[in-house]
Amino acid sequence: MECEICGIERKKIFITEIEGTILRLCEDCAKGGRILNIIEEAKKIKENLKPKIDFENEEYDLVENYGKIITEIRTKMNISIEDLAKKIGEKESLLRKIEKEEIRPSDKVVDKLERFLKIKLREKIEAKPKKEKKDEDIRLRIADVVKIKD
Ligand SMILES: [Zn+2]
Repeated sequence: MECEICGIERKKIFITEIEGTILRLCEDCAKGGRILNIIEEAKKIKENLKPKIDFENEEYDLVENYGKIITEIRTKMNISIEDLAKKIGEKESLLRKIEKEEIRPSDKVVDKLERFLKIKLREKIEAKPKKEKKDEDIRLRIADVVKIKD
């Protein structure tokens, strides 16, 4: 990030209020103002990486809106979260978080929910693992070499 006064690239930027204007500044330029917040680039990058989960080797993934689907079906079946938790042997607090989509349920929990609610919460992932592609490439290259020798 660049400081908005001196233009120097800095990893640590101070959100600073100077005479009623909010600016992103380096430590030196921020000294004259009121610091509201500090942004550290390294930290930001780490946080961005967090939600990325590698599903390369998984064939199935949770459907979008899985939480809404569970809530809808459960409501239609006229069962409270508390009862559902008892029926499938999971914690009520866990189910609440799953319905809000704050937590991705484990395969075990998804299995139970699918069976009890008679719904599908997973869909097949179309993309093939990268490994297979690499093997194919190598095989093609070997085939080319054989051709050249002939
Ligand atoms: Zn500066």
